[in-house]
Amino acid sequence: MDDYDVVIVGGGVAGLTLAKFLTEKGIPFLLIEEHDDFFRKPCGEGVIRHTMGYDFYDLYESKAGVEKEIWNTVIYTRYGEIEMEMPIVMMDKRRMEEELAKKGKGGEIKMGERVEKIENGILHPQQLKPRLIVGADGAFSMVREYAGVKKPILGMAVEGYSQNIEMDEEKCHIILRDDVVKYGYAWYFPKKEKWNIGIGSQKKKYFKEGFEKFKEKNEEVKEWRGAFVPLDKPTRAYGKNAILIGDAASHVFSAIGAGITPSMIIAKIASDFIEKWAKKDFRDMDFSLFEKEWRRVIGKYLTYSYYTKSIFFSVVRNEYLRHKLLARMCKSTTEYYRRVMKR
Ligand SMILES: Cc1cc2nc3c(=O)[nH]c(=O)nc-3n(C[C@H](O)[C@H](O)[C@H](O)COP(=O)(O)OP(=O)(O)OC[C@H]3O[C@@H](n4cnc5c(N)ncnc54)[C@H](O)[C@@H]3O)c2cc1C
Repeated sequence: MDDYDVVIVGGGVAGLTLAKFLTEKGIPFLLIEEHDDFFRKPCGEGVIRHTMGYDFYDLYESKAGVEKEIWNTVIYTRYGEIEMEMPIVMMDKRRMEEELAKKGKGGEIKMGERVEKIENGILHPQQLKPRLIVGADGAFSMVREYAGVKKPILGMAVEGYSQNIEMDEEKCHIILRDDVVKYGYAWYFPKKEKWNIGIGSQKKKYFKEGFEKFKEKNEEVKEWRGAFVPLDKPTRAYGKNAILIGDAASHVFSAIGAGITPSMIIAKIASDFIEKWAKKDFRDMDFSLFEKEWRRVIGKYLTYSYYTKSIFFSVVRNEYLRHKLLARMCKSTTEYYRRVMKR
């Protein structure tokens, strides 16, 4: 058996960000990714730039793949348009993942290899028994199952590229109407030369209905790519000799389905703990401290986002009241970002 102290399962944004930080700290690791290329998991490619005092550019430390910086988002409801100021960085996510992998070269990154099962701490078929397993293996995480953490509630979303959108290309656009999709929204996000457009819902039935109409309306889109997104409260992010980051632990702002920034922030926090554990040769790792820290930094906001989503979609069924509530939320978000970004 090869001797790796740290094995990361999954090379999406969460696993690769951790690889980058471990490289910076000089901690060896092995990352195993089942696909042999990046960005296989669909995404809207819009990154919330600033969250809980963390700036995306500080975490990412590169401009590779940055396509556009957007300040304004327009939300269209049945009762009008609501404008919100929130910094969003539109990325080429494939470039972004490639760049993170480059920055994570301090460890070994094995592409095109899948972990098939984990039993008694042994990863199969690799026959590895690391001291620490990091589950960065997405919404259907096998590491989460190994750690004994419950499955998440999943929503569904699809995305595709279009060049035919006649909307202001300096803004992100969100359609929040029950006649477009219930329990979800459609998005039109401008990239450099095209648009990333898509639709998602918490509920399968409404997702299917909404997607059929959306597809018809946007028939120029050549390929639709769909995936699941965790939409519940963040779960416990550890168990046995494993910790979880990213979608594997539902580290997603579930009101909007945004998981990139939370994944990166929690990957950074994980790297700080792994550094401490490495100093003691991975003996007596107290995972509850990691749990406490990520919950302190961002966990409560992820939970708040979950309750906002529940109130918004399940309690407030009337679209007019929803519009009014949204207008208030957008106003306070705008004020928050004006304050923290000093605009
Ligand atoms: C359609 C859609 C649009 C979205 N749009 C946005 C958006 O605009 N902004 C935003 O912030 N968030 C968005 N999200 C959510 C966001 O994409 C995710 O939260 C984020 O990508 C999570 O990253 P991750 O690394 O945790 O998981 P993933 O990106 O799913 O990466 C997990 C990786 O693990 C690998 N893997 C899984 N199992 C194994 C195994 N057994 N062995 C080896 N490798 C394995 C997978 O191949 C994958 O590469 C969207 C989600 C969807 C579905």
